[in-house]
Amino acid sequence: MATASVAFKSREDHRKQIELEEARKAGLAPAEVDEDGKEINPHIPQYMSSAPWYLNSEKPSLKHQRKWKSDPNYTKSWYDRGAKIYQAEKYRKGACQNCGAMTHTAKACMDRPRKIGAKYTNKNIAPDEKIESFELDYDGKRDRWNGYDPSTYHRVVDLYEAKEDARKKYLKEQQIKKLEEKNNNQEGDDATSDGDEEDDDLRVDEAKVDESRQMDFAKVEKRVRTTGGGSTGTVRNLRIREDTAKYLLNLDINSAHYDPKTRSMREDPLPDADPNDKFYLGDNQYRNSGQALEFKQMNIHSWEAFDKGQDMHMQAAPSQAELLYKNFKVAKDKLKTHTKDTIMEKYGNASTEDEIPMELLLGQSERQVEYDRAGRIIKGQEVILPKSKYEEDVLANNHTTVWGSWWRDHQWGYRCCQQTIRNSYCTGSAGIEAAEASLDLMKANIARKEACEESPKKVEEKKMAAWGTDVPEDLELNEEALANALKKEDERKREEKDERKRKYNVKYTNDVTPEEMEAYRMKRVHHEDPMKDFM
Ligand SMILES: [Zn+2]
Ligand SMILES: [Zn+2]
Repeated sequence: MATASVAFKSREDHRKQIELEEARKAGLAPAEVDEDGKEINPHIPQYMSSAPWYLNSEKPSLKHQRKWKSDPNYTKSWYDRGAKIYQAEKYRKGACQNCGAMTHTAKACMDRPRKIGAKYTNKNIAPDEKIESFELDYDGKRDRWNGYDPSTYHRVVDLYEAKEDARKKYLKEQQIKKLEEKNNNQEGDDATSDGDEEDDDLRVDEAKVDESRQMDFAKVEKRVRTTGGGSTGTVRNLRIREDTAKYLLNLDINSAHYDPKTRSMREDPLPDADPNDKFYLGDNQYRNSGQALEFKQMNIHSWEAFDKGQDMHMQAAPSQAELLYKNFKVAKDKLKTHTKDTIMEKYGNASTEDEIPMELLLGQSERQVEYDRAGRIIKGQEVILPKSKYEEDVLANNHTTVWGSWWRDHQWGYRCCQQTIRNSYCTGSAGIEAAEASLDLMKANIARKEACEESPKKVEEKKMAAWGTDVPEDLELNEEALANALKKEDERKREEKDERKRKYNVKYTNDVTPEEMEAYRMKRVHHEDPMKDFM
């Protein structure tokens, strides 16, 4: 059975073992128990239940069938949010200068920036944060609900229950009011039975609401046969499945992000494609274009109008709301032009005339500030630029401008010396000149090389000897001898073909003239020649 190592057993032991196994299968003996005290199914075949020898497991278990290599240190724990460890009374050396916690520096402080830091006031020292780090596995890193406490969902449930209770209470009050009115109107006559009917009506209403909700869910629609294939029969009200899902439009992982949970894709998945061919331009595009914007404005208008006491509702009476919005727009336009006309009449139109003097353009603002003779403020507030806790305008390595003041060819750099290397030393205007000079030199070099390549030297074609290597260069073939040699070669070939004409005593001569060699070369069959079979 699920025994670990296969040790040597005597025949007797083996027999006993098998008997025990049989008894277990028959239910006569108690099943084997593994390390954790769980029973092992006796019907599991041996080749599955016995562990491989290299695992060296001593006790029977089925662990080897599970994923036994998983990290034992891995837990599903999560950050203890907002937890504090130690609350100091006094400022400690090396702590955050702003809030006094030991766990971070002033630069990374998330506390409100204090006017005088905790280092100097020694008051209100913030407690140290609990800093944890987890090594998550593949799934843990991608788990969007990691660290979510399901018990907090009770809040949502409670909220809905409270809403429901309030609704019921309200209905009941209404009912009682109606009853009272009726009782006042017709004292005595069948008041009780009427009340019962009302009660029933109300109940029926509630039931109806429930039913309609259910109907929406179970709505069954007949599908139409479409070019994409279509279908027969009926289906639930689903989206048209022939449309390409937006996350399939661009399969590049670096393209627009698709959020599977909310099913949103804000950016355009195919930003470089022709806009006329595109069907989908990203969710943002739809949210901020076309009639969506107008619809939004109409909604806002109806809310505001409702707040001001007008009886209009975008959802309850959309046509009315739209009409009112249109009227409102016309009236608003009229009012705008009217005020514009009156202002222009009074002050004139500056845009038609000469440019406004710079003093006027730069000197004016909405804020009124009065200064005394020394330049101190008497009335009004000075513009306060918020100070950043991050270093600004830090000039390093003799540069007179900051990093990022220069940009060229998709690279950032320093403007003073136009260098694009971070933490380089400033070379000043000399550096710019040198860079330009080197650039010019490089361009000149490239131009020179191009010019050289345009007229490459003509390589004199050497008349290679067609045969052999040691042929004198000034060799000239005798034409008569060549003609003779060609004839001879033809003859030789014919002899080769015709077996009957083959001579018995063939003479071989080692002396081959250049003409003979040339003839052989000319008559030789070229295997690459596609016409060789027709010669
Ligand atoms: Zn701090
Ligand atoms: Zn510089």
